[in-house]
Amino acid sequence: MAYPTAANLGFPRMGAHRELKFALEGFWSGKLDQSSLLNAARELRTIHWSLQREAGITTPPSNDFSFYDHVLDLAATLGAVPARFAHSGGPVSLETYFAMARGSAGATAMEMTKWFDTNYHYVVPEFEPGMKYELLSTKIVDEYLEAKSLGIETRPVLLGPVSFVLLGKPTDAKVKRADILKAILPLYASLLSQLKAAGAEWVQIDEPCLCLDLTAESKMFYLDSYQQLIAGFSPKLMLTTYFGDLAENLDLALSLGTAGLHLDLVRAPQQLEALLQKETSGLYLSLGLIDGRNVWRSDLNRAFESVETAVAKLGTDRIQIAPSCSLLHSPVDLDLEKKMDAEIRSWMAFARQKLSEIAVLSRGIEGRQKIASELEQNASFLSSRRSSPRIHREEVEKRLEAVDSPMLSRHSEYPARRIAQEKALGLPPLPTTTIGSFPQTAEVRKMRASFRAGKLDAASYEKFVEEETERCIRFQENAGIDVLVHGEFERNDMVEYFGEQLEGFVFSENGWVQSYGSRCVKPPIIFGDVSRSQAMTVRWSSYAQSLTKLPVKGMLTGPVTILQWSFVRDDQPRSQTCRQIALAIRDEVHDLETAGIRIIQIDEPAIREGLPLRRADWPIYLAWSVDAFRLASSDVSDATQIHTHMCYSEFNDIMDAIVRMDADVISMECSRSRMELLDAFHRVRYPNEIGPGVYDIHSPRVPAASEMEDLLHKALEVLTPQQLWVNPDCGLKTRGWEEVGHALTSMVQTARQVRESLVAR
Ligand code: GLN
Ligand code: ZN
Repeated sequence: MAYPTAANLGFPRMGAHRELKFALEGFWSGKLDQSSLLNAARELRTIHWSLQREAGITTPPSNDFSFYDHVLDLAATLGAVPARFAHSGGPVSLETYFAMARGSAGATAMEMTKWFDTNYHYVVPEFEPGMKYELLSTKIVDEYLEAKSLGIETRPVLLGPVSFVLLGKPTDAKVKRADILKAILPLYASLLSQLKAAGAEWVQIDEPCLCLDLTAESKMFYLDSYQQLIAGFSPKLMLTTYFGDLAENLDLALSLGTAGLHLDLVRAPQQLEALLQKETSGLYLSLGLIDGRNVWRSDLNRAFESVETAVAKLGTDRIQIAPSCSLLHSPVDLDLEKKMDAEIRSWMAFARQKLSEIAVLSRGIEGRQKIASELEQNASFLSSRRSSPRIHREEVEKRLEAVDSPMLSRHSEYPARRIAQEKALGLPPLPTTTIGSFPQTAEVRKMRASFRAGKLDAASYEKFVEEETERCIRFQENAGIDVLVHGEFERNDMVEYFGEQLEGFVFSENGWVQSYGSRCVKPPIIFGDVSRSQAMTVRWSSYAQSLTKLPVKGMLTGPVTILQWSFVRDDQPRSQTCRQIALAIRDEVHDLETAGIRIIQIDEPAIREGLPLRRADWPIYLAWSVDAFRLASSDVSDATQIHTHMCYSEFNDIMDAIVRMDADVISMECSRSRMELLDAFHRVRYPNEIGPGVYDIHSPRVPAASEMEDLLHKALEVLTPQQLWVNPDCGLKTRGWEEVGHALTSMVQTARQVRESLVAR
């Protein structure tokens, strides 16, 4: 077979209408039996293969499907089933597979973590001492044959052995990654030879870890593994790298001897030149030119220049066009967006449309004239986007230019602010507060849904939210909390709520992407200059404040988090978009202060997850993201107290940035890591105030007072009493009122006791 010129690296699994999600959830709740689930999955695979073929991908991927996660699939395939799931050998049943993913009565779920710098989460393989690695599944071969039986030739996808081993974690220091690799390589060899025997000419072997900073040991892993795999009976391997630049690992990648190499030329276009300078005779090259991680129509003319550069050097026979990475990270089909503004829609491409773009570029391999009209049409779409007044707003651009360094700093340093805030707020030592949201009950969600569907009028909805807010204020007063919140009952989601009120954002109806398992998110789309036309939160914060004498914290989402959890425009640097959002939040902060709100929290849970994959790129990111926070938060008087909140406990390596954010108070998750994090704050002598979470809201368990007390005493070993706040570790929206009542009452009592013990001392 001729080498296919148009390729795909993976298609979204969920289905255009999230069919897989509903099938999975039906199965989990017992409403759907196993064979119906299997049928639904097979149907989706069939639809996706044919859809890709129709779009011009002659050899679409197989084994990109997963019931939950492809890394979990591989762990189950290789026999890496942790002992607590009591797997008795043979193929892993769906029941055990879902228990690994979601936990079961007898065993906690495996951990999940973010897949590189995407919002997709993979299940982290656990490597236990004595684990027996053996092939338990032939999913990859089965799905290849399934497609073949439909008359569709596919290129199976397999996560490579080194990335698998690097992405998993040994559960014990005795377990060495090198040994695991040794144990699984024969299994890989066996899978590859089975695929070859079944007729597969190529296999896409993903090694995204090649785009990371690698240790000397990891480099050795690569050399050892691929030598072995290539020596065996195997289809040709397309070594697939994405999410970054191979950079100093390029020579390593080339030396592995695979038949093909895929480069992410969207994230790292400079790789093409670097590669073409190397000796590459005989290498098949896959050019990742279409962005797999956003929603924008590509600049085909620019992409095609890369195609021509590659063809000039390598000829036409060994070039393939592909998305930069799997399309798992983009929504399925723009054609389903019937309600979206037509002009804005014309600038976009979802997975299906991206495949057509790939097909166009691939036809151009034979000569530019073959696609002249497509290139021209694309140029005209892009130029209409570039010049659209919907995107560029002079007043926003002027304001951006006017940002200077005084705007990035509070009027005074923290010690002076502290004095002003003490006077203004008169809070006790170890003040108690919460992170913002209170239980989003079924009723709250139902009322919001009816309001949105037009079944409930605005006045009734407002009245409902007012009642909930008032109930929440009384509840906090009764519990004895010092700094109250309004409860966030009016919010669906902490980013969407703001996106819907800001200029420059648009929302899709069906633009879902998988986050983990059956969970999908529908990120807002930032298409143009961001600005705020009117106050967004003042109404609810002021209402809540009018009900009580105690201070009510205003509650905002920070610019970095809004950026990170949206699809971001690709026609200007992310840092610039972030700064625009920061200015909008700055205006909101100002309005809250003017309305008499004395404490304002700006949540930045996503700041850490925005960190670039390579260390060398961290300083630049941290500089602009911290600046954005400072720009958003600095336009207030010394007496106004700025809080921020972050989740996920790993802060050790970004402590300097956290210090530079200069929030008066930071609250964070750490009840699970037993205050380890506080050591980091101690080490850098964190100067401002901290509320380390003393109550793990991720679990329905009500914490015992003694546990919280213990945590507070631990915190006081490294922090001064003037620094310490007492709060849960995140918002309470997923919890029920009853447990929250018990937990907060006991949290307040604990704080009071510890306060008294301080006075007694
Ligand atoms: N204020 C938000 C809440 O309480 C913060 C959520 C978050 O940290 N992700 O829900
Ligand atoms: Zn949180």
